Amino acid sequence: MPPGADDPLATRLADFRRRLPPRARLLAVSKGQPAAVIRRAAALGQHSFGESRLQEAVAKQAELADLGPLDWHFIGRLQANKARGVLRHFGTIHSVDSPELAERLARIAAEEGLRPSLLLQVKLRPDPAKTGFSPDDLRAAWPRLRALPAVRIDGLMTIAPLGLTAGEREELFRDCAGLAADLGLDELSMGMSGDWPEAVAAGSTWVRLGTALFGERPAAAAGTAGPTTPA
Ligand SMILES: *Cc1c(COP(=O)(O)O)cnc(C)c1O
Repeated sequence: MPPGADDPLATRLADFRRRLPPRARLLAVSKGQPAAVIRRAAALGQHSFGESRLQEAVAKQAELADLGPLDWHFIGRLQANKARGVLRHFGTIHSVDSPELAERLARIAAEEGLRPSLLLQVKLRPDPAKTGFSPDDLRAAWPRLRALPAVRIDGLMTIAPLGLTAGEREELFRDCAGLAADLGLDELSMGMSGDWPEAVAAGSTWVRLGTALFGERPAAAAGTAGPTTPA
């Protein structure tokens, strides 16, 4: 039997490994997926996982403790009061969307003796559903941000708004890459299941794939905020 014939996750992982250029690493977005799915992906050699809710992630990390350390990335909206918890449980944070949050993370990282990797979330087109630095705000804040102790600011993250054409998305991703280059930043967290080819064409270094890898998220496992259904 060919490997992966009856294993969609193995097939999809192998597909993405073949299709993504070496520069574009795969962040497996496991939010809403049970720990068993992460365990399976880890057995298939996937090491980096993205989560967007602290409480959900902490529970799964505890379940997976026997695997040894995985590479956890926080990609969700980060409330100030969750900053310490997120720093304790994630090595990389993709969703740093204000100077105040960056400063708070730096202060707490210093207290905790940590040195996280931060990506600054930028908003390059109007999008009421998303937060993020405007390019002008980011350029203005940059001298202060780059001097923050105890954190490494390694790159930018962006999310394309719904309703753009593929060409418009690629242009947006190229704008993000240009801004990162201006600031001397190497990492570009760009591209999700619906738009990763354009993001890769524009130079993404982290594609954040959830449904394209794992299939639809099980509704009842979507996190702590949703209604709980008895098993
Ligand atoms: C959920 C999520 C993803 C993955 O989305 P898919 O469409 O399932 O690939 C990527 N990035 C962020 C910030 C997300 O919240």
